[in-house]
Amino acid sequence: MKVIAIGRNYSEHAKELNNPIPDKPVIFIKPDTAVSKNNRPFYYPEFSSDIHYEIELVLKIAKEGKHIAPKFASKYYEEIGLGIDFTARDLQTELKSKGLPWELAKGFDNSAPVSDFVPISDFKNLQDLNFSLSINGELKQQGNTKNMLFSFDEIIAFVSQYITLKKGDLIFTGTPPGVGKINIGDKLVGFIEDREFLNFEIK
Ligand code: ZN
Repeated sequence: MKVIAIGRNYSEHAKELNNPIPDKPVIFIKPDTAVSKNNRPFYYPEFSSDIHYEIELVLKIAKEGKHIAPKFASKYYEEIGLGIDFTARDLQTELKSKGLPWELAKGFDNSAPVSDFVPISDFKNLQDLNFSLSINGELKQQGNTKNMLFSFDEIIAFVSQYITLKKGDLIFTGTPPGVGKINIGDKLVGFIEDREFLNFEIK
């Protein structure tokens, strides 16, 4: 399986990093070795001193598809969960300044903790879905899918023009504003609406 992620999908987050608002989705990929499950602790890697959290809604692809039309895109996901797109911001800034790909800053081991997945039918309206991240009991990020620049269906239609989606692939759908640095000892708790999906520690 692969993890496909979309950058800058909430304009307020693009602005906080001084990035332009994109007119097409900004896509990157994390390898399967980035995925971490079951609330395993995250071990702060040695190559960075500025790892950022980014809370994101994650779709699980239900069947193989390519060149998916937007109107059929919703047939390709049945489950949703929550994930963190850990980013080595220092490394990313350095690579970006040199015009180099950011792969290492986004794709390192365990950089994509994900929750269990639940049926999308558990939620009334995917176009108006709240999610949030608290660290040590303090609310850090709060998002709602109505503020996405590109909807779930638009992301799937766009990506599948280039990359075949396979059953089990995960799509990280972008982070709202409020990203920041994690520290050893932090406890991260993530919610979709008022339901807890993630709860793990930084070690
Ligand atoms: Zn992200």
